[in-house]
Amino acid sequence: FIQIRSVSRVFNGGNGVHDLSIDIPRGSFVVLLGPSGCGKSTTLRLIAGLETADHGTIAIDGKDVTNVPPSKRGLSMVFQSYALFPHLSVAENIIFGLKVRKTGKDEIKSRLTEALNVTGLEGYEDRKPAELSGGQRQRVALARAIVAGHPLCLMDEPLSNLDAKLRHSVRKDIRDLQQRLGITVVYVTHDQTEAMSMADIVILMKDGRIEQAGNPADLYLQPATAFAAGFVGSPP
Ligand code: ATP
Ligand code: MG
Repeated sequence: FIQIRSVSRVFNGGNGVHDLSIDIPRGSFVVLLGPSGCGKSTTLRLIAGLETADHGTIAIDGKDVTNVPPSKRGLSMVFQSYALFPHLSVAENIIFGLKVRKTGKDEIKSRLTEALNVTGLEGYEDRKPAELSGGQRQRVALARAIVAGHPLCLMDEPLSNLDAKLRHSVRKDIRDLQQRLGITVVYVTHDQTEAMSMADIVILMKDGRIEQAGNPADLYLQPATAFAAGFVGSPP
């Protein structure tokens, strides 16, 4: 579904990502895992089109998007910070993008109902973000991402502002949501427990390169390097 071929993005100072090639199957849940600064967010931003590759190509759904702007790539993003508008209600936050795109009223209404339903936010539509818990805010961010109906959703550390207990339950919510909608998710985290429990495929990164990729059991049972063994083997 996504093909990344020999993509590099090197910043001044030499950091960034180098010669990445990744294949992401349609409908899969792929986790980019690795320590701070290894290039996870840069990789996600390259897929999103928020960074431009110095070299290489990126295709989504059979189409070369290497030089296509973010809004035309058919994807949604969820960030760590939620990025909700504080002065807008839950419902208004969720449908903001649809309004910008001049979606019809009835269409907006039915999509909003569905998004509230799948994220368990019915009854909260008139609240302001300040009147919600962290987990509920993150659900609004998820609802806003899925309401667009894109087949691909990119998430950058969406749970890192939540406490341990909430992290656990929202983890499951995200996985359920992904399966129910049948969408492809690329999910960034530095938390190995999160990666191992959520992923179909884990892509472990180090210093802007892929250290090892595979399903969680393979990484756990057959780490290819000492770094991989240390990273996926030891608890946080
Ligand atoms: P974290 O877990 O801390 O979010 P990360 O794996 O997401 O880390 P990236 O944000 O992708 O890491 O950064 C990879 C490397 O590229 C880092 O060394 C970072 O300092 C560098 N980098 C990222 N963006 C820029 C930029 N705009 N200008 C210069 N260097 C950058
Ligand atoms: Mg990051």
